[in-house]
Amino acid sequence: MNIGENIAEIIENIPNNVTLVAVSKTKPIEDLELAYKKNQRDFGENKVQELIYKEEILPKDIRWHFIGNLQTNKVKYLVGKVHLIHSLSSIKLLRKIEKEFSKDKIYANLLIQINIGKEESKGGIFEEELPTMIEEVEKCEYCKVKGLMTVIPKGNDEENRYYFNKMKAIFDKVSKENYKNISMEILSMGMTHDYKIAIEEGSNLIRVGEGIFGKRKYLGGDLNE
Ligand SMILES: *Cc1c(COP(=O)(O)O)cnc(C)c1O
Repeated sequence: MNIGENIAEIIENIPNNVTLVAVSKTKPIEDLELAYKKNQRDFGENKVQELIYKEEILPKDIRWHFIGNLQTNKVKYLVGKVHLIHSLSSIKLLRKIEKEFSKDKIYANLLIQINIGKEESKGGIFEEELPTMIEEVEKCEYCKVKGLMTVIPKGNDEENRYYFNKMKAIFDKVSKENYKNISMEILSMGMTHDYKIAIEEGSNLIRVGEGIFGKRKYLGGDLNE
């Protein structure tokens, strides 16, 4: 297990237009430093406190991605610290982000998270709720939607491909429209065990944790908690 080698190998095997986000949740600073030495600059965290802590210590040219469930009362801590929030999953959260980021006149870059498998345990809106979300995004001033994100249900290759393909179709559909505050640039999907298929189906941002840093030690817990 060598963090630097893992990164090099992934980078070698993905197309140039695909961004690798190294999901460093639960991992110590030293592990992130090893990745940084391999020129890794995009890191993903799913807890606000942990992101803030690491952001404070590590070099300022790192782009921090927030990929977890975001509680409205914690939005304020991310202002000026986060590069991209992948988990816009309710209108309530959108309004809170608009409120907090506008105080400092900082734009919030967001991905709308889609619960493509309609799983109880996962965050994100249903596909059917997207028009309402888009309507609300158009009313904002400081919220800029850059694309979509998903965590698909556990399944075999064929099932994974089905959900990734479904996401790509939604992405393409929204791309064709001209909505205020929305530009479909990023399709964030694919993790350690399925990122190759995700890329084949149109992902241009993959979120890889264990495939870089090795197994996480905490027990249980849904990916999207
Ligand atoms: C933990 C996590 C990942 C990374 O998962 P791995 O299986 O370790 O690659 C990606 N996306 C989200 C939203 C996560 O919570």
